Amino acid sequence: MNKTASTSSDLYPIGQLPELGVVPKSMYAYPIRRDRYGSPSQAFQREVVPVPQPGPGEVLIKVMAAGINYNNVWAASGKPIDIVAKHMRESGLDYHIGGSDASGVIWAVGPGVKKWKPGQEVIVHCNQTCGECPECNGGNPMYCNEQQIWGYETNHGSFAQFALVQAQQLMPKPPQLTWEEAAGPTLVLATAYSMLFGHPPHTVRPGMNVLVWGGAGGLGVMAIQLVRLAGANPIAVISSDSKEDYVLRLGAIGAINRHKFDCWGEMPNPSDEKAFKDWMDRVKPFGKEIWKYTGHGNNVDIVFEHPGESTFPVSGFVCKPGGMVVICAGTSGYKLTTDARMMWMRRKRFQGSHFANAAEANAANKLLINGQISPCLSEVFQFDEIPLAHQLMSENRHKPGNMSILIDAPRPGLKSLDECYRG
Ligand code: NAP
Repeated sequence: MNKTASTSSDLYPIGQLPELGVVPKSMYAYPIRRDRYGSPSQAFQREVVPVPQPGPGEVLIKVMAAGINYNNVWAASGKPIDIVAKHMRESGLDYHIGGSDASGVIWAVGPGVKKWKPGQEVIVHCNQTCGECPECNGGNPMYCNEQQIWGYETNHGSFAQFALVQAQQLMPKPPQLTWEEAAGPTLVLATAYSMLFGHPPHTVRPGMNVLVWGGAGGLGVMAIQLVRLAGANPIAVISSDSKEDYVLRLGAIGAINRHKFDCWGEMPNPSDEKAFKDWMDRVKPFGKEIWKYTGHGNNVDIVFEHPGESTFPVSGFVCKPGGMVVICAGTSGYKLTTDARMMWMRRKRFQGSHFANAAEANAANKLLINGQISPCLSEVFQFDEIPLAHQLMSENRHKPGNMSILIDAPRPGLKSLDECYRG
């Protein structure tokens, strides 16, 4: 039995739960500190830190499981944002507790929280906003001047026994999913949802063709499923034939191994005719490979971009006239190059996208609740494997799909607080 007697302790071992609503003074966490910036395996270390208190409009969550995302690979490196320096300026805290995905139980609510109560089982979307500006009230909260990603730009994410969130971040936990399944997908699912449906008129519709970079990665597995659900055709890019089965089973109509082509990186200057022709000669075979699935001469309606620098020039090329390249990251670098003629003459749209607003995140969560989207959980790690899971991700050695960490869920396979108390 993991439930502790009603007497409060200052610190509970991982996997041992206090009575509902009993908040200890301290908790275990895996913070990042400035003097440890570098590889995830050195940056994240287990520590005991104070449990945060919920302020107005805030909620304290007992974290059962956390999802792993690339953003805390960036946080561990201290680049491009020195995140701990930001926290020191804003709150005086000299550590960063990351983690932008969580499943858990509401443990305490701050003043003014009306809709949510201790004991409710929830997952969390990671968009924090001011809640008071016009964009938060009738506009798009992603345009709020105070918009930040919880557990990356803000502190007190899910890599700890307790996490602090704004009440508007809460969403019902899909009841049929285990804690670890529910913790994995929200950040990547909501981001992919917004990229594919949040930029009208370029929304995915039946029959469209969509090129999905990193088809076996966190974003990619969600994009493939969403495109399929919309009745359109996802074509997945992968880096190894071993990932082909996985993306085809998920719904991709084709898989292309990018290592079989040689057209990556910065586009040469279009004024340098020889270099540009040489580049085009290397890009065209990749474009033709796509036609194997879309039909001769059919470029894709939407390119789902996130590798950035290394792939963006090709994305612009393989997008059809009037189509859209939608981009949410620059994993390989931020310097995007293109040929402006291709963009204006062919009326292509290059669209930035960042996470999702609460309406989009909740719409995406409904698909999880209805069982229309799989969380694609590939691997579950223990609390002390937070550094390892991030290290694997930083080296692109993680398995296809999403990874989760058990925090206070005593073992895998449990779905409710009651089950956790029963052990
Ligand atoms: P992930 O699970 O690591 O998947 C990314 C995939 O991209 C990898 O599996 C890899 O697949 C592919 N890839 C890596 N380097 C590449 C390159 N040079 N060229 C082509 N493909 C490459 O990560 P993720 O969770 O999908 O996130 C991907 C990126 O998006 C990260 O930078 C993350 O920070 C960012 N992101 C941004 C937002 C936002 O709201 N702005 C939200 C989520 C994620 P193959 O090796 O099989 O090709």
